Amino acid sequence: MSPPSPGDGLKFSRLTEYLGRLEETSSGNDMVQILSELFGEASPGEVDTVVYFVLGEVDAEYRHVVLGMGEKTVMDAIARASGRTREEVQGRFDELGDLGSVAEDLGLEGGETEQGYFAAEEPTVRDVHDGFMDIAEASGSGSQEEKIRILARMMSQEEGAERRYIARIATGTLRLGVGAMTILDGLSVAYVGSKDKRPRLEEAYNLCSDLGLVARTVAEANDEGGGEAALKAVAEIGVEIGRPIKMMLGQRLRRLSDIMEKMSGRAAAEWKYDGERMQCHKDGDEVEIFSRRLDDITSQYPDVAEYVRDRVDADTAIVEGEAMAVDEEGHMEPFQTLMQRKRKYDVEEYVERIPVNLFLFDLLYLDGESWMDRSYPDRRGRLYDVVETGGGVDLTEQIVSESQDEIDEFFERGLNEGTEGVMVKSVKEDSVYRAGAREWLWIKWKRDYMAELADTFDLVVVGALAGKGSRAGTYGALLCAAYNHDEDRFETLCKVGTGFTDEDLEELPGRLGEWETDSVPARVRSEIEPTQWFEPGVVIEVEGAELTRSPVHRVAEEEGKGLALRFPRFLRFREDKSPEQATTSREVRQMYEESRRRGR
Ligand code: AMP
Repeated sequence: MSPPSPGDGLKFSRLTEYLGRLEETSSGNDMVQILSELFGEASPGEVDTVVYFVLGEVDAEYRHVVLGMGEKTVMDAIARASGRTREEVQGRFDELGDLGSVAEDLGLEGGETEQGYFAAEEPTVRDVHDGFMDIAEASGSGSQEEKIRILARMMSQEEGAERRYIARIATGTLRLGVGAMTILDGLSVAYVGSKDKRPRLEEAYNLCSDLGLVARTVAEANDEGGGEAALKAVAEIGVEIGRPIKMMLGQRLRRLSDIMEKMSGRAAAEWKYDGERMQCHKDGDEVEIFSRRLDDITSQYPDVAEYVRDRVDADTAIVEGEAMAVDEEGHMEPFQTLMQRKRKYDVEEYVERIPVNLFLFDLLYLDGESWMDRSYPDRRGRLYDVVETGGGVDLTEQIVSESQDEIDEFFERGLNEGTEGVMVKSVKEDSVYRAGAREWLWIKWKRDYMAELADTFDLVVVGALAGKGSRAGTYGALLCAAYNHDEDRFETLCKVGTGFTDEDLEELPGRLGEWETDSVPARVRSEIEPTQWFEPGVVIEVEGAELTRSPVHRVAEEEGKGLALRFPRFLRFREDKSPEQATTSREVRQMYEESRRRGR
C-alpha cells in the first residue's frame, strides 16, 4: 500500500458534521450510534486520530502532547485569520464565552492573505492532526509566534464549523460529553458487531491506556477478518514498558470486621500509606514514573527513578508502590509535605530538602513477561526477590493473617507510624492484578471510617501485657473487663494500649501494684492470658470505635464469641468508681444492638 497523499481520507469537514451531531445530543445511545457511523466512515489508519479528536485531544492522554497555546495565543491566531484586532476578538469572547464560537463567528473576510497551511484544498482529519503536531513541536525562542502563525493559517483554510472545533481543540475546551466508555461502545458496534463486547475492548484499554490504539487495532483486524478477528486482535494488546497500565483500586467497607468476612477469613493486610501512587517502568537504565492519573511524573522524582534503576534487579520491570516523604530518620511525613515535591522548578533542591521513600507493593511485569495474571502472593513473593530494599526503597509493611485482632493491632501500629489505614488484599488463587478495576480483591479501610461510639466505657483493669519496643519494661496494654451484674463476674472486653500519656504510663505500676495476683482472679472471665493478673480494683474510662463479635473476649458471649471493643483508647482513671460500678455487660450488649440497628 502506498502512503496516503494529501487530501486522501476522511475530510475534517466531514468529521465536524459528526462533532456537531454529538454536541447536540445528550443521549448515550445516540452518541454510540453517531460514533459507530463515524467510525464506519474512517479508514483503519486514521480512526485513532478520529478518536483523539472526538475526545478533544491530539494523542493518547498519557503521551501528553502539549500544544502550548492558551486563550490569549488562540485569540491572536483568530485575530490574524479574521483580520480583526485583538480587542475585537476579546470583545466577542466576552460576549460568547467560547473561543470556538468566536472563531466561527468572526469569518475570514478581512483575514490576512497568508496562504493556508494544508497542501490539499480540503484538509483531511490527518492533515489537521499534522498541523496540531507542528504546533506542539514548535519550541524555543519565537515558538509562540510560530504556533500562532500555524493555527491562523490552519483556520484561514477552513469553514466556520471547522474553525470552531479547531479553536476548541487548540484551547482544550472541546467538551462533547463523550467518555471513554462511550467510545468503546461505538467501537464495539462499528467493528465487532454489538455493544456486548465492550468489556473485551475495555480490558485492552485498561492495559494500554490508549483508546486510539484500541480503535486502530479493532479497525485494522476487522478490515482483514471481520468482528471475530477484531476481538482476537484486541485480546493481544499487551503490556508494554513505557505505556502506563490503569491502576487497580480498592473497594471500601465501613467495618473492618466485614472485610475479613468478605475475604473468607484470611487475607494480607498492608499499611495504607498516604502518599503518591507510582507505577514505575524500568527498561535497562531508563525509568519512567506514572502517577495515578497516568501522568508522566519522572521529572519531579529523579531520586525515585534512581532508586528503581539501582534497586530493582531486572532488565525490564513494572512495579507499583506509594511514595512518602520521610525525615532524616526515615519517619513518615504527612501527605502535605510530599506535595511540595510537585513542582517544575527547583526540583534538585527539593530532592535534598524533602527526601522520599518508595514503598513497593506490586509487580506487574518482569523481564519481558506480564505478571498481572498471577496471584497476589506470587507477585509479592517475586517482588521480594527482585527488590533490594534500603536506600530509598522498601516493601509495604504487610501481614497475612486470619485473626481480626492481629489485623486490628497491625492497623493501630500503622497509625502510630503515620499511615492512614490498611489495604486488605485477597491472597486467593484468583487474586490477579485487575487493571483499572475497583473490586473486592483489595479493600481499603481508613482511620476516617472509624465510627466512634457515642458513649465511653468505664472498665475494670484485670490484667496487663508486657510492653514491646519503646514500652519494654513497662505495661504495653491493659486487659479490661465489663461487669456482669447478674452473675457478678468481670468479662473481658478489650486490650487498651493507646491513649496513655507518659505520665499515665509512669503511674500505672503504682496504681495497679496493690491488685497484683499470680493467677486468674475468681470472678474474672478471660480467654487471654496476660503477663500479669490484677484483682478487680482499678477502673479506667475508655473510648472505642465499634463493638464486634470476637472469640477472644467474653462479654455477652454467644456461641463462643463475646463482644469486643475495637480500637479502644484510654481516657482517664476513674478513682470515683468501684469495679461494681463499671459499665455492665448488659449495657455493652445494648450498645452493640443499638449500633447494629443503625447499620454501623
Ligand atoms: P484511595 O485513593 O482512597 O481509593 O486508596 C487507594 C490508594 O491507596 C492507591 O491508589 C494507592 O495510592 C494508595 N495505597 C497506599 N498504600 C497502599 C498499599 N499498601 N497497597 C495499595 N495501595 C496503597
